[in-house]
Amino acid sequence: MIFIVFVFFFLFFFYSCSLSQFVFKSRVRNMVSPEKLLYKQPSVLVGRTDVVSVTPWLAPIIWEGTFDPVLIDNIYKPMNLTIATTVFAIGKYDRFIRDFLETAEKHFMVGFNVRYYVFTDLPHNVPSVNLNQGRHLTVIQVPGSNRWQEISARRMEIIQTTIEHQIRREADYIFCLDVDSKFHAHWGAESLGRLVAVIHPGYYEQTRDRFPYERRPASTAYIHMDEGDYYYGGAMIGGFVEDVYTLTKVCRNKFEEDAGNSIEAARQDESHLNRYLLYNKPSKVLSPEYLWQDFKAKTKEVKVIRFSGVIKNYAEVRPNV
Ligand code: UDP
Ligand code: MN
Repeated sequence: MIFIVFVFFFLFFFYSCSLSQFVFKSRVRNMVSPEKLLYKQPSVLVGRTDVVSVTPWLAPIIWEGTFDPVLIDNIYKPMNLTIATTVFAIGKYDRFIRDFLETAEKHFMVGFNVRYYVFTDLPHNVPSVNLNQGRHLTVIQVPGSNRWQEISARRMEIIQTTIEHQIRREADYIFCLDVDSKFHAHWGAESLGRLVAVIHPGYYEQTRDRFPYERRPASTAYIHMDEGDYYYGGAMIGGFVEDVYTLTKVCRNKFEEDAGNSIEAARQDESHLNRYLLYNKPSKVLSPEYLWQDFKAKTKEVKVIRFSGVIKNYAEVRPNV
């Protein structure tokens, strides 16, 4: 009898261990709109014509005026979703945490459960910021580095392992963002999708041969001059926790493979991200409204700047130039 109990116990133990490799918590379901919700009638004929709002593989490109924020938020809110949000603040980048969090509380996924994960080598420098109900902050200590290239690239590895250990049980979606940035306007459920990327504000008017992809065939991030859809920004990746997990795992492995061959991609993690997204097409693409840069003048197609990188003195904040 005791033997049978032991066998049962071990079988159960191994079953749950093997399952834990693959189980992701997700409550995402089909888009159900609440009854009697009042919103503007969608038009088949009138809409934005100055920008392209769908990719050739039929993923929406999110621009102001292409979605109804009231309708979308009302579809997603009843799902009671949790959105993980990761930022890294290593070394002097701790100075950006307060503005990032305070502006996120005003504009980012308002009304949703948000779990911020701040990765830093200086946990005592993380300011205390008032968080709204349903919002939570976890500080995770990670090693510092004397090379910014390494800090940037190692984000993939740290996100991957933190998803494995923690985030996959705690969130439905994840956004991985640059900390040296602020939110300026609504960023809501219109940004949710299985695999979400953002068009880099610096290159959307360029032809693909001008994109700063990795061009050396010796790197695993290599992209040929005749290939490429958009140039995606490395300051934002998002989607289902499971899909971002796979992305970070692949990019981390390729980065390490390159390092073994003494090569570092031109734009570190951003180069590997662009290579990954060329073949693993995002299901939703955010327009540059979702990743602007403060030094860049607003262009006519950008009606709202939602998230923008602050101007910083690179020589002063980075550990190396
Ligand atoms: N980062 C950091 N400490 C550093 C350099 C970079 O924490 O010394 C992190 C930080 O989250 C930053 C991200 O890496 O937002 C990307 O680096 P950076 O913003 O300098 O790149 P840029 O946006 O200027 O290309
Ligand atoms: Mn940045």
